Amino acid sequence: MSREVKIGNVSIGGGNKIAIQSMLNIKTSRVDDCVSKIEQLSSIGCDVIRVSVKDEDDALALKEIKKKISIPLVADIHFNYKYALTAIDGGVDKIRINPGNIGGDDKVAEVARALKQNGVAVRVGSNSGSVEKSLLEKYGKNEISLAESALKNVAVLEKFGVENIVISAKASSVPLTVKTYRYLSEKTNYPLHVGVTEAGTCDMGIVKSSIGIGSLLLDGIGDTIRVSLTADPTEEIYAAKRILRSVGLDKNFVEVISCPTCGRTEYDSIGLAKRVEELTAGITKPLKIAVMGCVVNGPGESADCDLGIAGGGGVCAFFKQGKVYKKVKFEDAEKEFLKELQDIVNK
Ligand code: SF4
Repeated sequence: MSREVKIGNVSIGGGNKIAIQSMLNIKTSRVDDCVSKIEQLSSIGCDVIRVSVKDEDDALALKEIKKKISIPLVADIHFNYKYALTAIDGGVDKIRINPGNIGGDDKVAEVARALKQNGVAVRVGSNSGSVEKSLLEKYGKNEISLAESALKNVAVLEKFGVENIVISAKASSVPLTVKTYRYLSEKTNYPLHVGVTEAGTCDMGIVKSSIGIGSLLLDGIGDTIRVSLTADPTEEIYAAKRILRSVGLDKNFVEVISCPTCGRTEYDSIGLAKRVEELTAGITKPLKIAVMGCVVNGPGESADCDLGIAGGGGVCAFFKQGKVYKKVKFEDAEKEFLKELQDIVNK
């Protein structure tokens, strides 16, 4: 099991629940816009939010943002160690930085001191596009060089006594991402920040992220996840939640079991399944609702459902735990079913 690292009021690793992260795509110095977006993301399930620090205005804005939000704030810093110090001074909960590119031991020592004094966590890591030449020559362009590059950054921080470390090693290739994190999980017990980088827009990006992140989570690898999408960050949160639910790590939701439909389907089960999904989207009660096309296979195939419906011969059968308890004519079925659903949800 990975060790626990605290990021403000969220603990990751050590068996804690997998934290969902996202990143703003608003300039950080626009404090009010950032705060309202963070509030929106937090309300739909974002546990930790990262913002980029491009210039001094951004670095100074972190303190104002931090005062107005309740989820942990992570500052993403490239090259400039002074921004890291300003961020830590402003109260951020974690910084994302690579010690290898902030300019020498004296600067790393200064950042390390500030991290330790303020109990701030740090994420270090590698990206398939920026692996050091020496590692590429030694291992080739593969999971070993990518993982070793991340571990090299970890070693730099350890030299200065920093222990609150989270590691990432991302590639845009799903197989490379999965192999790299598997390698890392063998080599270290620091918590792992898992994701497929530059995954693309919602369509392909969600597929790539689901396979990459999902495969790792099923192996028990990963402590915090980010679904990187070329889209509004809200999409990243929705996708992350669906991934956690699909791999069984979040059970507090209404799972809609619905068949693919076939020539035996006689009523609009596609429309009803969509309607059920919309109506139950925000509910955090662990329930299973089945919308099945036909009575021949429907009740049996969804025997463990809290409520189900299947149609045939002009009527829909309603069932609970696989047992039919009511039959309703097609024309009244949707209305009646949604009423029964409401009763179960409110119970
Ligand atoms: S449950 Fe019935 S309608 Fe749905 S796919 Fe199976 S056989 Fe076809």
